[in-house]
Amino acid sequence: MKNIMFIAPPAAGKGTQAELIVEKYHLPHISTGDILREISKEDSEIGEYVRETVASGQLVKDEIIYQLIEQRLKKEDCQNGYIIDGFPRNLEQACEYDKIIERLGYDIGNVILIDIDKATLEQRITGRRICANCNAIYNINDKNNTPKVESVCDQCGGKLYQRSDDNLESFQTRYKTYQEKTEPIIEHYKEKGVLKTVNGNETVENIFKEIEKII
Ligand SMILES: [Zn+2]
Repeated sequence: MKNIMFIAPPAAGKGTQAELIVEKYHLPHISTGDILREISKEDSEIGEYVRETVASGQLVKDEIIYQLIEQRLKKEDCQNGYIIDGFPRNLEQACEYDKIIERLGYDIGNVILIDIDKATLEQRITGRRICANCNAIYNINDKNNTPKVESVCDQCGGKLYQRSDDNLESFQTRYKTYQEKTEPIIEHYKEKGVLKTVNGNETVENIFKEIEKII
């Protein structure tokens, strides 16, 4: 199976699709967040650096990230394909990733863009409600996904709430970063001929079907 990289704006459902792929195809899911959490438990110089940097709220240096990603991708479980998530986030990182892949003798594989318009994302974000009791997720802007009784969970009767970062303001900030930093990666991989696009306005099931056709 080919390697998979996702490119998607915030709240486009990238995490959900990655989970579905992992479940069905048992590919390792490589995320920089997990790698950093793992390494920060280690009693080594690099472990200590990551621990202190993360604790102080600063970003881990790119050179360290590259090194850690290369080490992780080198492992046996990645040799038959993997999903890389949350990396690269900008063009510079993408170029560095390409070099890592080349050094390891891997292919880029499929770079999958979840294409979705901004208005839909805004509706999803502002409409999302979560059950405080069982974590079921609803969306009051999506008629197929509204609770039967307002603010009450269909499954358990729990009270629904809105997550504090599910607001337009924080979405706009994250979206702007995506446009400025991440969108240039799309062009980069389009030129390399590895970019595949799926329609993110579709349901989770239909998006997954499209992805399955690609991979
Ligand atoms: Zn519930």
